Amino acid sequence: MRRALIAGNWKMYKTTSEAVALASEIKKGAAGAPSDVLIAPPFTALAPVVSVLEGTSIAVAAQNMHFEKEGAFTGEVSAPMLKDLKVANVILGHSERRQYFAETDEGVARKTKAALDNEIMPISCVGETLAERESGKTMDVIGRQVNTILKALTIAESTRIVIAYEPVWAIGTGKVATPEQAQEVHAFIRQCIAKFHGAQVADALRILYGGSVKPDNVKGLMSQTDIDGALVGGASLKADSFLNLVHYDKQ
Ligand code: PEP
Repeated sequence: MRRALIAGNWKMYKTTSEAVALASEIKKGAAGAPSDVLIAPPFTALAPVVSVLEGTSIAVAAQNMHFEKEGAFTGEVSAPMLKDLKVANVILGHSERRQYFAETDEGVARKTKAALDNEIMPISCVGETLAERESGKTMDVIGRQVNTILKALTIAESTRIVIAYEPVWAIGTGKVATPEQAQEVHAFIRQCIAKFHGAQVADALRILYGGSVKPDNVKGLMSQTDIDGALVGGASLKADSFLNLVHYDKQ
């Protein structure tokens, strides 16, 4: 049985005081959630949010990291630096990173491996653009992105990752994939994993859907066999909407 995960990606929103206030409200409201809960504040708010959530089961993630442990990489943050802050999770290869910061499939695979080497759980993102979907290339693109990540990992390492399927055309646009569209790609991702690392790994690995997930569409998505949770942007920025997602069984 895969335990669901609802993850909030705060992107470049929230000052430290705003982040502490939001994390405190989420802490109060998340009790009794049917899923694991994770939030990803900006780098500047990681330490204070970790401290607010200490002693709870709510996990904290960074939104990116470098694959090297240290070095002359101005502006970057490494896995040991995150660990030092007790941040044990990281979102990697988000489409905004791929689109605006030139992240490649190989770079995302390398970062995924580096996170695991440092005992940080990666949520590695994949997703097709609208042009790729409309030209019938969705499965080619997703297969290439997923296989590049899997190629960098051993079987044992693959059991410790989470994959997020986030169609680029659905992120921040209000255009959500239908539960059936999302399920089709999630099932395909699971097949890719099964081919690469076997059915046992494929069955255990969590695959999240991301792209305009809101309280009014979460239940339909979560009812699909291969959707194990959600990676949420916009709706994670307010406590009430995020908590409605966390308690998706009540929607
Ligand atoms: C995201 O940033 O990962 C995301 C899915 O954003 P939104 O929920 O706003 O579409």
